Amino acid sequence: MQGSIDSSDARRRFLLFDREPGRGHSGRVNHRDFDDWTALADKIQPRTHAWISGPVAARSGATRPTLNPATGEVLADVAECDEGDVHLAVAAARMAFEGGAWATAAPRARAAVLHRLAQLIEDNLEELALLDSLDAGKRIVDTSTIDVPGSAAILRWYAESLDKVYGEVAPTGAADLAVVRREPLGVVAAVVPWNYPLEMAIWKLAPALAAGNSVVLKPAEDSPLSGLRLAELAEEAGLPDGVLGVVPGAGPVVGRALGLHPQVDVVTFTGSTATGRLFQQYAGQSNLKQVWIEAGGKSAAVVLDDVSDLDTVADGVAAGIFTNAGQVCSATSRLVVQRGVADALIERVVDRAMTIEVGDPLSPDTQMGPVVSERQASRVLALMESGAREASEAHGGGVLSGARAGTFLRPQVLLGVDPRATIAQTEVFGPVLTVHVVDTVDEAVAVANGTPYALAAGLWTDGLGRAHQVSRRLRAGTVSVNCVDALDVATPFGGFGQSGYGRDLSLHALDKFTGLKTTWIHHG
Ligand code: NAD
Repeated sequence: MQGSIDSSDARRRFLLFDREPGRGHSGRVNHRDFDDWTALADKIQPRTHAWISGPVAARSGATRPTLNPATGEVLADVAECDEGDVHLAVAAARMAFEGGAWATAAPRARAAVLHRLAQLIEDNLEELALLDSLDAGKRIVDTSTIDVPGSAAILRWYAESLDKVYGEVAPTGAADLAVVRREPLGVVAAVVPWNYPLEMAIWKLAPALAAGNSVVLKPAEDSPLSGLRLAELAEEAGLPDGVLGVVPGAGPVVGRALGLHPQVDVVTFTGSTATGRLFQQYAGQSNLKQVWIEAGGKSAAVVLDDVSDLDTVADGVAAGIFTNAGQVCSATSRLVVQRGVADALIERVVDRAMTIEVGDPLSPDTQMGPVVSERQASRVLALMESGAREASEAHGGGVLSGARAGTFLRPQVLLGVDPRATIAQTEVFGPVLTVHVVDTVDEAVAVANGTPYALAAGLWTDGLGRAHQVSRRLRAGTVSVNCVDALDVATPFGGFGQSGYGRDLSLHALDKFTGLKTTWIHHG
């Protein structure tokens, strides 16, 4: 990432907050300007039906408005499903699974469908990018160059991998043959959050479908639109009837019904730790379904005092928290810096934070868009206020003056915060950075590891030895050394502790969606 930073131009630098090459899709350029995107947005026709073997209204007829957080306007009234709709979607998924058209299809046949879906996603890139931007307030620069092409790339990767994963022949005596196969598990419920609506769905669907399962997707209340369009594209790609259902609706209704459903075999969940706990309970109260949880984080960027290029580090630290307005589970929301470089680094980080251009997500010049909803803005604002009281010095924060909606927040940097303070322990999921100055490497590690979460960590050092030694000691699913939030479809993503368990992405994700079956043949 750092090699491509143009340090002579702050705005270009912030465009890099899309975290190249971490998401693995660097080099994509967005050529459209604000007027182009606005004109395209005016033509968007969101799909509003649930998808249960085709587009359907909620049985009750209920709908829920989904809003554009940048304007407060209603984008669409989307089917509001309930337990009855969930039951129909799960029944359709179960019937499709038992029918075997997908589950027992030759791997190459499944791969062909997933490749076609990837192609359709690329063919409809601008529409999908706009749906996520309008629905969730995400920068169009990010959705069009990262989220949507990234989703297509992930589908392709799993399509390519599914016929390269072999079973096993176990060591036995000469009179026996023991074959160990991976089999799909059945019906997978994918329950996802709103911060990367399409990408989070694809993280779940791609390996689950590749393995031969049926999937019922529950998008987040605030961002259902790309998931609904995805279902339509999946049908066009040739996914058999019932293999993918999409049931928008309230978490405590639709999510709960999926969690409790006796015909759901696996729940793959991304969201808050609190909801993750509920899914464990639902499983215990129902059929002991497998539950995989990718939950919250309070990750640290650790900066050691041997770093020489403080401008690059400051770019990385700011990108680590302010990308996607801080609504990133692996955001490095705490800066843990050794005293020797603290003053010089803090000055640079504060400068970057205070000059971020907060604005319309459809403008390519915007560095930070709105947060996803008024509700989320209120939550973040309350934490900004209480956090400022816990800090010795507070920079920024609050609603952007003159903004079109109360969802446009200013980045906040809080100095002199006790690492045990509420603001340093609570996942804000907004543009708030706390700064903790430490003397020793041991202290840095202790502060970085000192929360119940363990999703990600950043480490900045010029020392190769220190990079290895300290990264080993940081408790996190991913440690990004001298880069920001590194991630790729080829590497597993997930955490420890209250950040959850199980891994998305990589071949390891297939483990979640397959069961090992031994067939032992005694032929002696
Ligand atoms: P959330 O837990 O409120 O919601 C996530 C999903 O769960 C949504 O679809 C929601 O409708 C559903 N849900 C909510 N309440 C439910 C209930 N009672 N029963 C069943 N389902 C329910 O989280 P959010 O606010 O949408 O997303 C933000 C959270 O997601 C943050 O904590 C963030 O760290 C986390 N997240 C984690 C990752 C990761 O990979 N670790 C990635 C993105 C976001």
